[in-house]
Amino acid sequence: MKLVVRVKLLPTPLQTSALGATLHACNQAATWAAGVAFEENARRPLELRKHTYAEIRERWGLGAQAAQHAIKKTCDAYTTVKANLRNGRYGRPGAKRHARASGKPVVFRPQAAQPYDDRMLSWQHQARTVSIWTTAGRLKGVAFTGQAEQLAVLAGHRQGESDLVCQGGKWFLIATCEIAEAAPNSHPAGFLGVDLGIVNIAATSDGERHCGRRINRKREQDRKLRSKLQKKQTKSARRRAKKYAGKEARRNKDINHKISKRIVAEAERTGRGIALETLTGIRERARLRKPQRTTLHSWPFAQLGAFIAYKAKRAGVPVVYVDPAYTSQECSQCRHIERGNRPSQAVFSCRVCGFVEHADHNASHNIAHRGWYVWVCGAQSTALELTLIA
Ligand SMILES: [Zn+2]
Repeated sequence: MKLVVRVKLLPTPLQTSALGATLHACNQAATWAAGVAFEENARRPLELRKHTYAEIRERWGLGAQAAQHAIKKTCDAYTTVKANLRNGRYGRPGAKRHARASGKPVVFRPQAAQPYDDRMLSWQHQARTVSIWTTAGRLKGVAFTGQAEQLAVLAGHRQGESDLVCQGGKWFLIATCEIAEAAPNSHPAGFLGVDLGIVNIAATSDGERHCGRRINRKREQDRKLRSKLQKKQTKSARRRAKKYAGKEARRNKDINHKISKRIVAEAERTGRGIALETLTGIRERARLRKPQRTTLHSWPFAQLGAFIAYKAKRAGVPVVYVDPAYTSQECSQCRHIERGNRPSQAVFSCRVCGFVEHADHNASHNIAHRGWYVWVCGAQSTALELTLIA
């Protein structure tokens, strides 16, 4: 499976200016090539190369590889626009947005990502440096840094092209790694149910609760600060609001990585699969007062689900998705469903059998239980197909 690793470059001021000039040149060249592609209706690499290659090399001082990548990047951008036009992302033909997207050439931002192949970029993992092509010649010994775990993946599994990007004045290389998956566990010993929610972002059927009040309080503070900044219409306030939004997104992502890692590790250790609720409808299901709704909407549950899915795939842990309807009202002991089973946000108390548990755990038990059924039915249907074929 493919995995993307992002490392931060630590260039010296001199290296920074060389990288900046390079990215600018590559994107200017690509924007120019996009104009040619538009006029000449040449949107395939081979064709566009005929029209642009020599001039790109001469005018912007791009090396042979960089010029080819700039041309390919331009063609890829047109392919994306074409696909988006076709699938209606710009509205119907004749719509304003549709006309705008199809009626003028693609333009690249001065700092748009530029692909690098192995001839333009080499990695020295021991020294934690890269040697990278720029318009000012080859830069050697550009330091990089990243999380130890990610660097190990990078050193062992990097394959193909990497992208050079500049985000918020910082430089990154985004590398693709090809990782072997563990053999999938086809006989899980039950399922670990995960209930996603507002008070607890994730509660498992093993009784583990991830990240409750403390994070929500911090997020609430951030939200207040952001809306205050947004009300101020000055440029600096907007810039600060943007900075805080980025910071929060990074922190949320980090939390999602940690939660997903623990959940997958626990399932793997105990030889079980993971049962997740299907995410469509998590917003509709949560009937809440307004202040809580904003918190819910801003938590990236889809990202958490995606992290669990890929980490599980890597570890060979099966993941099933269950319909989450009434999981919060169903008794995990006697299966009785009633709204009155849930006297408060945190408490589950069965009206029939008297079973009492933390509401999120009760729900996660139900999800685990349904996960087992989904698995058995799925496994049975494949067995049935096999007998039918035989
Ligand atoms: Zn009950």
